[in-house]
Amino acid sequence: MSLIQGLAAHAAGAELLPFRYDPGELGLQEVEIGISHCGICHSDIHLISNDWGMSQYPFIPGHEIIGTVKAVGPSVRSLEVGQRVGLGWQSNSCGECEWCTRGMENLCPLMEATCVHRHGGYADRVRANARFVIPIPEALPSEQAAPLLCGGITVYNPLRIHGVNPSSRVGVAGIGGLGHLAIQFARVFGAEVTAFSSSAAKEEEARELGAHNFVNTRESKAMKEVAGSLDFIISAISADQDWGVYLQALRPTGTLCFVGVPPSPVTVHALPLINGIRSITGSPIGSPHRLREMIDVAARHGVKAQTERFPMAKANEAIERVKKNKVRYRAVLAN
Ligand SMILES: [Zn+2]
Ligand SMILES: [Zn+2]
Repeated sequence: MSLIQGLAAHAAGAELLPFRYDPGELGLQEVEIGISHCGICHSDIHLISNDWGMSQYPFIPGHEIIGTVKAVGPSVRSLEVGQRVGLGWQSNSCGECEWCTRGMENLCPLMEATCVHRHGGYADRVRANARFVIPIPEALPSEQAAPLLCGGITVYNPLRIHGVNPSSRVGVAGIGGLGHLAIQFARVFGAEVTAFSSSAAKEEEARELGAHNFVNTRESKAMKEVAGSLDFIISAISADQDWGVYLQALRPTGTLCFVGVPPSPVTVHALPLINGIRSITGSPIGSPHRLREMIDVAARHGVKAQTERFPMAKANEAIERVKKNKVRYRAVLAN
């Protein structure tokens, strides 16, 4: 096998530079993907900056990958060379623990991430265990499908876990890469959707994506008006907020679910939790089974990421635009 050509950070926060590595022999269960598209997720930017203290350099980011199968290991029966596929945050798991055997591989203590301690998708090729490589239906264009592999599953899985259905009233807090997909999926599930944003300019876009209602979080009156009205709020906000106000927006037994990470610890008063049996939770990606389901739902119901495309060679420019929150709503690198 020839060397894989990618773009790597060589130090925390550094610009990405061309970098080649030898992937070695293809493993029995492994698949090699020739990458056509790779989305830029905020996790990539955190990993480049070593915000989570787990990055090792040089390191090629990227885990919202679409491409075609270039080679399969000798034991792979599920995929063929030439097939269009996707790969998200997770690239392997032990396959044997309680969580793997329950179909919750995303909770496996030995889970391997596509671009943590190994090289990811800002490259011409990438490898992963075949169980985590998902066929992509023809109806989904590659560019709009790439962000579903991490951003999409991150919001889809909690909506499914918490049983969102046509009777549900769902809040989506933060209208960006994750939020714009959450609005579309909640709408597909038949829920009444309320978008929360600190930017009044997002109202029109949120409604076009399918939101029925819009709350400007800078207006305390608007926040008070939704008190006690929602069953489920998914928060993709990565800034600190008065989370008590969001708890107040929940009906009894409602749930506030974090998929975005605010910088400070989340502090709330216990009384709204006690009195209304309200819950606070979070959710990480989803299993390969759920990933296939999400991709199928997206293809059949027309859920697509809104994307801005950049050539792979301009990854640094794209990252700068993502950092400045200028991209509507997901940057995708194309080879
Ligand atoms: Zn991600
Ligand atoms: Zn496991």
